[in-house]
Amino acid sequence: MSRKQFIRNAALGFAGTALAPVTGKALPLGEAKGMSDNIAANRYRFKNVRLETGFEFDGEEVVGTKTGLFSIDIEDGKIRTISSNRPEENAIDAKGMLMLPSFKDMHIHLDKTFYGGPWQAARKRTGGVKGMIALEQKILPDMLKTSTAKAEKLIELLQSKGTAFARSHVNIEPTSKLQSLKNLQAALDHKKKVFGAELVAFPQHGVYYTDSVPYLKEAAAMDIDFIGGLDPFSIDGAIEKTMDFTVQLALDHHKGIDIHLHESGDSGLKTVEYLINKVNENPSLKGKTYISHCFVLGKLDSAKQEAIAEQLAEAQIGINSTIPFGGLIMPIPTLMKHGVKVMTGNDSIIDHWNTFGTGSVLQKANLAAQLYGQSTEFGLSRMLALATAGPVPLTDKGVQQWPKPGDVANLAFLDASCSAEAVSRVSPVVSLVYQGNIVY
Ligand SMILES: [Zn+2]
Repeated sequence: MSRKQFIRNAALGFAGTALAPVTGKALPLGEAKGMSDNIAANRYRFKNVRLETGFEFDGEEVVGTKTGLFSIDIEDGKIRTISSNRPEENAIDAKGMLMLPSFKDMHIHLDKTFYGGPWQAARKRTGGVKGMIALEQKILPDMLKTSTAKAEKLIELLQSKGTAFARSHVNIEPTSKLQSLKNLQAALDHKKKVFGAELVAFPQHGVYYTDSVPYLKEAAAMDIDFIGGLDPFSIDGAIEKTMDFTVQLALDHHKGIDIHLHESGDSGLKTVEYLINKVNENPSLKGKTYISHCFVLGKLDSAKQEAIAEQLAEAQIGINSTIPFGGLIMPIPTLMKHGVKVMTGNDSIIDHWNTFGTGSVLQKANLAAQLYGQSTEFGLSRMLALATAGPVPLTDKGVQQWPKPGDVANLAFLDASCSAEAVSRVSPVVSLVYQGNIVY
C-alpha cells in the first residue's frame, strides 16, 4: 500500500490495523504485474533504485554526491544482488527514489504514550522527577488499560517516518510491576513482521526510591535486552549502591545497560566516571553500555569534555541524545570526533513528560546539522548516521559501503537525490521495507 494509504489506515482507530497483514496485494511504488506472489514469498526485485556511488570533489572539498540507478533483488529478508539497472524488466519500480538504510529510534518509551488518544498537553511540573513519579503512580493504572493499542499506533507513526526499529525503555516499577512490559511485548508481537525492537527494563521510579528490585530481577530474566536506570543520586540517594546493582544485574543476565542520566553537576559526572570504571573492570559490557541524555557532558568545560569523550570511547560506552537545544547543547561533535557511538531518538511523543516528538529521527539528524553547523554536502551526509544509528551509504572518503549483498533488507525509499538533501530537507519517506517485508 502507498504511504498515504498506510497513514490513513493507521489513523482509522485501534481495531482495524493492528493485525493488518503484510501482503503484496497493493503494490508500493510503481506497478509490477505478477509480482504479488513473489512479494508474498519474500522474493522480488526493485528497479530504478537510486544509490549513492561516491562524492564529487572540487579539489579537497566535497561539492556533490554521485548516484546511479540499480536493480536490487530481495530474497528471504536480505539483499541478494545489486546489479545494473534493467528498467524494461517486470519489477517493482522505485522510480528513481533514493534507497537508504531504514531508520532507528534508539530512545523512546513505546509503553507510555497518549499518542492515538485525544490531544493532551503536558501538565505544569511540580517537584521535579520525584513529582513526576508521584504523577505516574496516579495515572499509570489507567494508561495500562490501552497501552498495547497505543504502542501499536506509535509504531505506525514511526514507520510512516521511515523508522523500522526502536530501542524502547519500558517501565518496571511497583505500580506497573511487569504489566507495561507484557503489554508492550503484545504490541511488538503483533508488529513483528514489520517492526523490530530491543527493550530496556527501566526503573522509572528509582531502583530503591520505590522498591523496584524484585521487579527488575524478574524482568531481567525475561526477554529484554538492557538494564535501565534513572539518576542514581537524585532519585535513590546513592550512586554506588544503585550502579553496582545495575551492573551486576546486567552481568548476571548477559544484558546491556542503558541508563537515563539527567543529573548534571558533581553527581552526574561521578555517575559517568563510576560507570566508565565499572565497564573497564567488566569488559563484557563494552559495546553494550549506553548513557541516555547525559546532560552533564554539556555542562563541562571543553577540556573536560574532550577527556571524558576519550574515556567513553575507550570503554565503548555510547551516548543516546534527543539533541536538546535551548537550555543545553550537547557536545555531540566532540563525542563523534573521539569515536563515541552517538545515537538519537524521540524519547517522548505526546505524553505527560513532553509533547514535541514528531516520530522522525531524520528530523533529529536535521536538527543536529543545524545546531552544529553542518550545512555542507559532506557535513549533512555524515549527520544521516544519527537517523540510521550507524550505517551510511558512503565512507568519509566517498567509497560506497552500503548496501552490500547479504545485508538485511531494512530499507527506506526517500524522495531525495542524496543523503545530504534528505537530511537538509527532511525529505519524505515514500516506502519502508523491514527484513524484506514491504510495510508500505
Ligand atoms: Zn527516556
